[in-house]
Amino acid sequence: VSTSSEVTLEHPITVAVRKRPLSDLEIQKNEIDIVTIPNTNQIIVHEPKQKVDLTKFIDNHIFKFDYTLDENCSNETIYKFTAQPLIKNVFDGGYATCFAYGQTGSGKTYTMSGNEENSEAGIYTLTAQDIFKNVYLNKTSRKIIISCSFFEIYTKKVYDLLNHKTSLKILEDAQQQVQIVGLTEQVVHSVEEVLELICEGNKTRTFGHTSANSQSSRSHVIFQYYLRVENNPDIYGKFSLIDLAGNERGADTFFASKTTRFESSEINQSLLCLKECIRALGRKDCHLPFRGSKLTQVLRDSFIGNQSKTCMIAMVSPGIGSCDNTLNTLRYANRVK
Ligand code: ADP
Ligand code: MG
Repeated sequence: VSTSSEVTLEHPITVAVRKRPLSDLEIQKNEIDIVTIPNTNQIIVHEPKQKVDLTKFIDNHIFKFDYTLDENCSNETIYKFTAQPLIKNVFDGGYATCFAYGQTGSGKTYTMSGNEENSEAGIYTLTAQDIFKNVYLNKTSRKIIISCSFFEIYTKKVYDLLNHKTSLKILEDAQQQVQIVGLTEQVVHSVEEVLELICEGNKTRTFGHTSANSQSSRSHVIFQYYLRVENNPDIYGKFSLIDLAGNERGADTFFASKTTRFESSEINQSLLCLKECIRALGRKDCHLPFRGSKLTQVLRDSFIGNQSKTCMIAMVSPGIGSCDNTLNTLRYANRVK
């Protein structure tokens, strides 16, 4: 994949797939890599049909997407093909969204929040860098004010990550304008200030969780940038970056607890609803099932209007143990556009 030329997106929806490398645990378990990416538009899942001899009876599932990026791709590269082209849209007064979709452990948070261990920046940060570049390059006489919010949707509740996880109410007025009452919106003046907010929000998010994959993988996490023209309270442009809840169906099993099953059906419902809303965006449809979930209700304004654009990054794990989840992820991503 060349990283030199500038990418522009014509269609309002872009779907990219990212495959992460096999993890140490997968290597320890001798899991083989069943996902290949032959070129930048195709991905193949080699599904073994027989447990005994993995080399026999393989079903090859081939999918096509706008971009398919393999395990050697960096956050910066995936950003260049997905979120970065939407920055212009936001500065032109449009609404943009970027979704990270996939099973728990597939790399959603790595892609969005970045990786502390090797200090690789994620999409939240890369977006901040470009937003501030544009603020200073903005040639109009009007000053653009940037602010951010950071919140989590877990089951049917909204929690403010910039205010001690306070639970917030969603209100909808007669014009179907949706508002999260009391959500912290912090004005930011630099990339560094954004990084501080992300750090604070991530701490709030994981506080009290005993295991990394408990509640945190069962919630949708939303980071939003708002652009306003100085002295005008109306939102001019908006960019929402969303780390979606894990889409795995693990909780369908007999042994799943009541809470997990409830969480799971909530997640399924919101992801189904999300798919319908994104599809409708491409078709300029006005009958959207926003109210079917808190997630789509909160994002309503980002699915309507001519100026709304969306990208989805579908993350896949390469290991044979994730085959069913990988196929589910790719089928969902395939239906979005
Ligand atoms: P998710 O948020 O989808 O549950 P994570 O982003 O937490 O998944 O990733 C799970 C694990 O895999 C983490 O240890 C993370 O560091 C690692 N990982 C994810 N994507 C990559 C990648 N592209 N390169 C290297 N390691 C990755
Ligand atoms: Mg995560």
